[in-house]
Amino acid sequence: MLDRSNELTAWDRDHFFHPSTHMGQHARGETPTRIITDAEGVTITDSEGRSSLDAFAGLYCVNVGYGRQEIAEAIAEQAKNLAYYHAYVGHGTEASITLAKMIIDRAPAGMSRVYFGMSGSDANETNIKLIWYYNNVLGRPEKKKIISRHRGYHGSGVMTGSLTGLATFHNAFDLPRAPILHTEAPYYFRREDRSMSEEQFATHCAEKLEELILAEGPDTVAAFIGEPILGTGGIVPPPATYWEKIQAVLAKYDILLVVDEVVTGFGRLGTMFGSDHYGLRPDLITIAKGLTSAYAPLSGSIVGEKMWNVLVQGSDAMGPIGHGWTYSAHPICAAAGVANLKLIDEMGLVENAGTVGAYFRAELASALEGHANVGEVRGDGMMAAVEFVRDKDDRVFFDVSEKVGPRVAAALAARGVLGRGMPQGDILGFAPPLCLTREEADIVVARAVEAVNDILG
Ligand code: PMP
Repeated sequence: MLDRSNELTAWDRDHFFHPSTHMGQHARGETPTRIITDAEGVTITDSEGRSSLDAFAGLYCVNVGYGRQEIAEAIAEQAKNLAYYHAYVGHGTEASITLAKMIIDRAPAGMSRVYFGMSGSDANETNIKLIWYYNNVLGRPEKKKIISRHRGYHGSGVMTGSLTGLATFHNAFDLPRAPILHTEAPYYFRREDRSMSEEQFATHCAEKLEELILAEGPDTVAAFIGEPILGTGGIVPPPATYWEKIQAVLAKYDILLVVDEVVTGFGRLGTMFGSDHYGLRPDLITIAKGLTSAYAPLSGSIVGEKMWNVLVQGSDAMGPIGHGWTYSAHPICAAAGVANLKLIDEMGLVENAGTVGAYFRAELASALEGHANVGEVRGDGMMAAVEFVRDKDDRVFFDVSEKVGPRVAAALAARGVLGRGMPQGDILGFAPPLCLTREEADIVVARAVEAVNDILG
């Protein structure tokens, strides 16, 4: 128990502007302040002494689990020896250079360099600038539009919030900004035409993309960005053959592919990268979260050889690239990254995400699929979602405002397991640490069944 929790709660309400939080309700004390004090493995503990099994790994980021001393010690060692030096004009540290090498060694074929940032959002901002720079160097200044998907999530900056295809990140901020466009979400369960097979739906998504490119003019479209599996948009795996068909369209019109692996990078789908899992050939890859398992804030844009060779020509003509962050390749964060990637290998977490992930999803499906209000249980690797419907046979969906997902998530939290009521309102998501055991998976499933029955009967 933390004896200062009353004082902290008062300070929190008066002074802490929380992200993604209802401001008024929180300031008035209508929503709880939960102060997390410590964590170990898959379990977090709060100031009231309550423990919870964190089946969302924070925000799908604590991939190795909490309390890993190897990473804590690497951070402490780096802070004692060299807390900071910048990475401008060719400066580096042992940690940042080693980490770049480790990332390229693990990345899909054809990847060349890593540009480090602090968050997934800023890494995607970097990607947008690199894409524009690339086309300027190639002498095609009009090829600048970037296509994202409805329900995609790519950050909450001005341009990355525009890439994000979720209304709450747009409404009231005058987003999206030009030149960002959105195409159809590869969401088979929600497709309107019920006669389509999964593969036909994938063809339909690729046709929609091509229609958009042709309507805009292929000479104006620079890049397409997507998560291998939709994450915040509802944890939706792509329909069979989707990526193959999308990549064929992109190749036809010389459009770059940015694969946002902020969630899927470093093992979440049972492969080192989601690109390996779904056969993607990216020009740029966005990484963050699992890069350090969130022990320190670090992100990166992995640049493929094709782009790198053009970017270099730009620098030869125009001088140093005018893009830099003070904290790019921060040595403390890089040291956390090196220790984290070693631990992922040593603990066999990529393999565990595949095997225990498959077990967890199968158990969740067999326990919940028969429920009258469960429309679909889906996922891949160590990611799963339960989508609730009012009526299964007639396909009547719950209204977002009913917040069925968050209500089930709250009932689950009351039972000591943390999932996530996804922003769409009717989905309960799971993305546990990759070290989850079968026994822990059983606990999550048993509590999830109780929570669903509690809210939906
Ligand atoms: N891309 C994806 C796929 C994400 O899921 C997220 C965050 N959930 C981001 C980008 C943005 O990362 P950050 O919150 O670190 O800016």
